[in-house]
Amino acid sequence: MALPVEEWRLCAARRWAALEPALRERLAAASLHETLRLGCGLLRPEAEALHRLCRRARAGKEPAAARFYREEGNRLFGRRRYRAAAGLYSQAASHELPGSPEVSVCFANRSAALFHLGRFEVCLEDIARAESHGYPERLLPKVLLRKAECLLCLGRVQDAADTLSVAENKIAKDGIVTSSSHQTLLKKLSQLKMKIQEKESCAEPAQEASGDIQRKSEIWEENDSISGASSSLSLNFNRERGRHLVASQDILPGQSLLKEEAFVSVLCPEESHLQASSETAWDTRVTNADLYCHRCLRQLLASVPCRGCSYAKYCSQKCAEVAWEQYHRTECPLGALLLTLGVFCHVALRTVLVAGFAEVSRLVEWSHNGDKDLHNPEARCKGLSEAPDTGAGTRGIPGCNDNGQYQSSYQAVFNLLPHAEKHSPEHKFLCMLSVVAICKQLQEAGLEAAVLRQESSEKWSKPETHEETSGELSPELKTVAEAMLRHVLQLQCNAQAITVMQELGSRDGAVVNKKPARLATAFFPVLSLLNHSCSPNISVSFSGTAATVRASQPIPSGQEIFHCYGPHRCRMRVAERQQLLSQYFFECRCQACLDELESDVKSVVPMRNSFCCPSCQASMQGEEMLCCSNEACAISVSRESLSLRLRDLQHQMEKALELLRDRKADQAIKMLLKCQMDAGNFLSPEHLLMGEMEDRLAQVYATLGKWQEAARHLEKSIEIVEMHHGSSSVEIGHELFKLAQILFNGFAVSQALSTIQRAEEILSVHCGPQSAQIQELQEMKTCLLELPTNILQRT
Ligand SMILES: [Zn+2]
Ligand SMILES: [Zn+2]
Ligand SMILES: [Zn+2]
Ligand SMILES: [Zn+2]
Repeated sequence: MALPVEEWRLCAARRWAALEPALRERLAAASLHETLRLGCGLLRPEAEALHRLCRRARAGKEPAAARFYREEGNRLFGRRRYRAAAGLYSQAASHELPGSPEVSVCFANRSAALFHLGRFEVCLEDIARAESHGYPERLLPKVLLRKAECLLCLGRVQDAADTLSVAENKIAKDGIVTSSSHQTLLKKLSQLKMKIQEKESCAEPAQEASGDIQRKSEIWEENDSISGASSSLSLNFNRERGRHLVASQDILPGQSLLKEEAFVSVLCPEESHLQASSETAWDTRVTNADLYCHRCLRQLLASVPCRGCSYAKYCSQKCAEVAWEQYHRTECPLGALLLTLGVFCHVALRTVLVAGFAEVSRLVEWSHNGDKDLHNPEARCKGLSEAPDTGAGTRGIPGCNDNGQYQSSYQAVFNLLPHAEKHSPEHKFLCMLSVVAICKQLQEAGLEAAVLRQESSEKWSKPETHEETSGELSPELKTVAEAMLRHVLQLQCNAQAITVMQELGSRDGAVVNKKPARLATAFFPVLSLLNHSCSPNISVSFSGTAATVRASQPIPSGQEIFHCYGPHRCRMRVAERQQLLSQYFFECRCQACLDELESDVKSVVPMRNSFCCPSCQASMQGEEMLCCSNEACAISVSRESLSLRLRDLQHQMEKALELLRDRKADQAIKMLLKCQMDAGNFLSPEHLLMGEMEDRLAQVYATLGKWQEAARHLEKSIEIVEMHHGSSSVEIGHELFKLAQILFNGFAVSQALSTIQRAEEILSVHCGPQSAQIQELQEMKTCLLELPTNILQRT
């Protein structure tokens, strides 16, 4: 996903192997500038192959897809799965041309689903959209009645009455409508009229929401020299650790340390966009692109499709317009290519588009003059901060401006280390060919002016195309390509994933089941200052495209602030972690790694996620062939066959969720209990999957309103999660949140209150006191405390 699709990687590898050895050697040693000079012309023979691969990526508008999604939407609407139906109508709308009657029908259908979901405001927006896109006259009365009903539900009685009279006139005018549907309309009309009369007679004043909890604002003092950072941090530099942040005073758990808006972020597509499967079958699976705004990552309910492509969907017209101005008018025609070349290339392109050509060319030129030794950008810093960590000041630290300030700017992004000399020459070659392919297509699509115009409009408003050269990139585009190459290489170490807790399944169970999901890849130049530890002292949470960093434990003054790049000591053994971290070009020397490497203390991780003997349930040992640890038993099984059983089990669990979505809770329970039986025969009792099954069972019982059973299963899941992630981890926080909801719904007041308390303590450290979950916990608490005593006595 981050890298180009496999076929293109192989293609580039073959090309690399076939190059003249002398050229390979020169490329291997070349600076970024040289790499492009030497390699720019090497794309040509491969362009056709890339073009073919792009045809698989579905980014354009296709009428056949629109029809398919609309019919699927109607089918689910008929089964009252309104949320899913709304999603499918959105899919359909994204494949229709703007302003066409077809797209207006998608919006109108979606408005019906939204109405049933009780989302009246959004429903009205969709009705307005349908009208403005030329909704067919003859179908209008039905939509107008829905509009009136919506307005009525929102308490806008006069507006509802006005809309109703418009509808009435229309129905009266075209009497030709087939009689039965005409009858239905008339019936609906008279019902609505009655309702309006009722409302008018007892005109009640609109109620103001009361009892708003005053939100406490967090104590926050911003750092003078690092934008978005708290004043309790300082930026240091030394050769061994590079740039890093250190506590300049004692820090308490939960204290905010950094608030940063992504410099750029790109929503991660999911595999289904690139499926090579059959030509006609459209995928109804919901992906990130359907769930989140392409620009601001807000959750989508009724998306606004891009006018040009089917993959960019926005939360609002405004977001669509801003994205179009900033970058999407350039990216839109390149959709298939960007999906094929992967997210890193996409982030690289968006970075240069957002920065603007003037800034890009200034910094690229500066990088040529600034240091002779391009292989080693760190060398530039030699000598300047060899002084002890403290007191040296930040002036001269790479990425800082002349006043010694480090800001979230293009200059800071540009100064993130590309590690050009550490990437393999083949990898650099692949990245180079990929960015050249993007620049070539920009040139061929006549978008060069749009790219360059970004900042200095008069200077670059020359003719749109650059035709004098036969496929050679213009000098300006070469500069753009060089910057992009740098960014792609930087991303390997500096890409920050934006993750959210994603809701699973439907919301009608009163208990929200959430799972962390990777949403986007972004550049956060300030967050990038943090070094890695497998045992970090902070926690990062995201809201839209903004990151907030909080201390997850007390940090004494002078201690370095550590972020975990992925391999956490709770989740992996030291060998696995070191393997994963090698992509960042360093060997981790964090305390957790040192302890595990030196003291011969075996990590607890493998014990927990292991297989057990199918015959006697003792633990299994070995690599390829696993043997029972119980000598009397002597059973051995291949790892492969156990892994196969594990995958089968996961598949069964998916099916159980599917049943739950179809409201077949009893069957879902049966299936999960069977899974549990099977799993008990070959998984250790502490296996994460065992916890997941308990979690699912809790979910099903919750949808049935069987709160006690639900709580019992969830408590078992919590035990397992705690073993894996620790008792104050964010994972435990989320589990306790679920438990609190279940106990709340089951009126188990005292247990609910103590669970709320625990969840609050943990989640406020990781997500802050303002987070939605904390607010919800507090509302539950208020509600429980206000319950009449006779209910309280029951517990
Ligand atoms: Zn948005
Ligand atoms: Zn588009
Ligand atoms: Zn480590
Ligand atoms: Zn055994």
